[in-house]
Amino acid sequence: MNTKSHVGMEQKVCPVCGQAFDTGAILLDKRLRNSLERHTVTGWDLCPEHAALWNKGYIALVECDPEKSTFTSGTIKPEDAYRTGRIAHIRKAAATRIFNMPIDGPVAFVEPGVIDQLEQLTGEAP
Ligand SMILES: [Zn+2]
Repeated sequence: MNTKSHVGMEQKVCPVCGQAFDTGAILLDKRLRNSLERHTVTGWDLCPEHAALWNKGYIALVECDPEKSTFTSGTIKPEDAYRTGRIAHIRKAAATRIFNMPIDGPVAFVEPGVIDQLEQLTGEAP
């Protein structure tokens, strides 16, 4: 069964939680070809929940398994990260202090153990 249509609901995938969510935008194939899935993922963006935390000044630390993730020149792209499911949010200023470098994106991928260490350092539950 061909479920494609010339209109689709745009979805983006959150790099923090890895969940697809509706952006509310409607996609339209300009030539009216049936090229679009009912839900079409167009890229990465923060979901409303994680966008709100980022706007409040929190960075998401996403724990990923270094054995199963693919590194590209020392960093992991969201699509190559194998998430363990553990996420912690820390204030941007705290992240800069702890990692000793400015973190400009809303997401940082970390190895297992980093979140545990942070909990001990900051004494806060994530
Ligand atoms: Zn999210």
